[in-house]
Amino acid sequence: MKKFELIKLPYEADALEPVISKETIGFHHGKHLQAYVNNLNAAIEGTAFEEMPLEEIVKSSEGGVFNNAGQILNHNHYFLQFRAPKADNRPTGEIAVMIDMQFGSFEAFKEAFVKKGATLFGSGWVWLSVDKDGKLVITQEANANNPVLHGLKPLLTFDVWEHAYYLDYQNRRPDHLSALWQIVDWDFVNGCL
Ligand code: MN
Repeated sequence: MKKFELIKLPYEADALEPVISKETIGFHHGKHLQAYVNNLNAAIEGTAFEEMPLEEIVKSSEGGVFNNAGQILNHNHYFLQFRAPKADNRPTGEIAVMIDMQFGSFEAFKEAFVKKGATLFGSGWVWLSVDKDGKLVITQEANANNPVLHGLKPLLTFDVWEHAYYLDYQNRRPDHLSALWQIVDWDFVNGCL
């Protein structure tokens, strides 16, 4: 029987400091994501979902199976897209060209993305994706939703569930979102195109 496993982080737990603390990584990856993995494995035991890839489960399930599978898909992308902070961390390669063409500048894109994240009511995610015509789109996804549900290809995401930032930023969600640009791994984002 197949079991989903907690992804291994491609960096040390303190590597993203001071943007995201070691303590937050410990809870977010080690407790929250681990719980989603454990819950999904328990929920799909003995069902047809056991043999499905994660994305297919997300597209074809509902209720508890969907919530846990969606959160694993979301968090796997989230944790893999970061690297240690860099002072002037800007997009590179193809994604840099696409952002400039569509949003005018990286600064204008960041403002639009952070605004979508800051104004998402409750728990969820803000995503940058590319649509079937190659156009970039920013979407707000509530709770465990993921852009693949609307036929989009996901590129970058900021988690706006309070567990992602409350230890480090308390209620200051916009400050947290603005700080995350320092740790985005644009090579990873380009690899998603
Ligand atoms: Mn989270």
